[in-house]
Amino acid sequence: MTIPSLPNFAEAMSSRNDQEGVLRVAIMGLGSYGTRVAQAMESSKRAKVVGVISGTPSKVENWKKKYGIPDKNCYNYENFDAIKDNPDIDAVYVITPNALHKEQSIRVAKAGKHVICEKPMAINAAEAKEMVTACEEAGVKLLIGYRLHFEANTLKVVNMRKAGDFGDIKFFQGLSGFMIGDPTQWRLDPALSGGGAMMDIGIYSINGARYMVGEEPIWVTAQEVKTDPVKFKEGIDETITFQLGFPSGVVASCLSTYSQNNLDKFFLNGTKGFAEMQPSTGYGPIKGRTHQGALDEPHIMHQTVQMDQMAGIILDGAEPPIPVDGREGLKDMVIIDAIFEAVKTGGKVAISV
Ligand code: NAD
Repeated sequence: MTIPSLPNFAEAMSSRNDQEGVLRVAIMGLGSYGTRVAQAMESSKRAKVVGVISGTPSKVENWKKKYGIPDKNCYNYENFDAIKDNPDIDAVYVITPNALHKEQSIRVAKAGKHVICEKPMAINAAEAKEMVTACEEAGVKLLIGYRLHFEANTLKVVNMRKAGDFGDIKFFQGLSGFMIGDPTQWRLDPALSGGGAMMDIGIYSINGARYMVGEEPIWVTAQEVKTDPVKFKEGIDETITFQLGFPSGVVASCLSTYSQNNLDKFFLNGTKGFAEMQPSTGYGPIKGRTHQGALDEPHIMHQTVQMDQMAGIILDGAEPPIPVDGREGLKDMVIIDAIFEAVKTGGKVAISV
């Protein structure tokens, strides 16, 4: 199929439907990551930005011009339920602060549109469950923005692990962190973020531990350190170290922090070999090596690959190499709940995902 060039793409798409193989996406939340996703989608063969949901009219005007979006595909946070009457939008990508994800995703599902929601999918497991149920009841797909699940070097390591190249897996280390700036941003407001570094960046080590080890954890222990209780107020974790135990006896040792840079590293060790990746979860290129040599798969913008693949999942029922559905996101939320409980109690908390 020939993809018409921008800016008339949205108009051209309005006369098409799913069968023609392009997922028509409205972006909700035109902030920093929403902008990155939309830029990456310019190179996507299977997903296109055709609509927006925003509370800021000036941003809507810019996006309309940039992506050739017609007025009828522009919504705000009050009126977006009306998207149910818009046949020219297939899916909404929710890219707003974490605590808004649940309500917004459920409204999208009730409007009959597929939901792609950013990580963390919600602020706790109870919310995540509600989202899964709402999307199942509405008969729409719920996908979480786990872009690394489609990244080539990550998949190379996962495939090597599945092929037994590392032997029996024994240990995983995940280090995830950065120094957060502006103390007034929503990421440091518990009402909007639902937590601190763990929700934002620590989740990469949790999710990574699961796909690198290839098992689901059964217990967690965790310890919190807070050096700045003013910036990292009640409900906002600054630094948490945590250990996940897996059924085979593998232990994952992880660090989540908002007060150190240069922390984006995975290490997987087995009886026959190892993989180390640094950076392991940033926007890339993802770099690293295994006992067999360098990880040097070509870099493609993660969000471009993600959206091409998600179009295949939604439109063709394709199976992703590592799950990205709501139930996958829910597992990470169950683990985060358990980590917070382990911090509070100081004990070992059982996990059942
Ligand atoms: P951001 O602050 O840059 O953008 C958030 C957007 O939400 C803004 O446009 C803001 O106007 C809008 N918004 C709507 N209602 C709001 C409200 N009540 N308060 C504040 N803002 C409101 O944030 P971001 O970095 O784009 O993050 C958005 C989401 O994307 C988060 O859930 C984050 O975890 C996720 N994210 C994912 C990745 C990834 O690699 N997958 C990377 C960055 C962010």
